[in-house]
Amino acid sequence: MTGPARCFKPCTVVLLFSASLLWMAPSRGEEAAFRMPEYPDLAPPPPRSQAEVAALLAGGEAAEAGPAEQAPLRIVLVAGPKDHGKGEHDYPNWQQVWAKHLPRVAGTRVETAWEFPTAPQIDAADVLVFYQHGDWNDDRAAAIDPFLARGGGLVYIHWAVDGRDQHQALAQRIGLASLGGGISYRHGDLDIDFTPGAEHPIARNFRRIRWIDETYWKLAGDPAQINLIGSSIEEGRPWPQFWTIERGRGRVFVSIPGHYMWTFDDPAFRTLLFRGIAWVARRNIDRFNELVTLDARVE
Ligand SMILES: [Zn+2]
Repeated sequence: MTGPARCFKPCTVVLLFSASLLWMAPSRGEEAAFRMPEYPDLAPPPPRSQAEVAALLAGGEAAEAGPAEQAPLRIVLVAGPKDHGKGEHDYPNWQQVWAKHLPRVAGTRVETAWEFPTAPQIDAADVLVFYQHGDWNDDRAAAIDPFLARGGGLVYIHWAVDGRDQHQALAQRIGLASLGGGISYRHGDLDIDFTPGAEHPIARNFRRIRWIDETYWKLAGDPAQINLIGSSIEEGRPWPQFWTIERGRGRVFVSIPGHYMWTFDDPAFRTLLFRGIAWVARRNIDRFNELVTLDARVE
């Protein structure tokens, strides 16, 4: 966000899967780069331990063989121009890296969009993931409302929650939204309490997680409308940092953290975003688990 300068007949199915894997399969030399290419010139947080990651992933479901899991999951990753310093809000690099690696999970198809998906992309998509400087207007409403009504899934990361002068309208769709830089925010040591989301599949095994990233609070919208997943204490009281909301048949997952690019290389953060993508698509919540530690900041 604005502020200090630092400031996801059987033969036919098999053929479709094979085609999608060939389409986005990384070449051999690129396989080991699911890490964000640039960090800020600051000390990164310590890597997460293998034991902590194993505890977060414990109790996962085996991949289901039902019809829903056999159909390709079609994701559009939406980015936009970079608006912060090195290693912050790096929407373009996030889009490149995630578009290359999400399709490693069988039955996952990824497309990319700049600023906003095209109408054909939205028509074909199961999930739209927005990581960009957000915006809202009548054209976006006219595209997103029918998408949600037919059961589409939305994921909003960090500054994508900015609705600018249409923040109330964006909040009606995603729960809470920002009026430009008029909200409160803090960069630094986060201690997110996932107790509110203890019964939600996205937060399975999560209790408290620390990151070095950014919180927002004092967003527009009605907190009573959201399903709170995780909160942060700011100015003496808890504020939503992760939540879901359902609109018609559509589902939405929001993560406020996502300022520093090292956070995207953290297995705990990846787990939440991957589960968020799977949950809004009504798929196996653990379908992306093989990517949680791939080239991640874990030891
Ligand atoms: Zn930020």
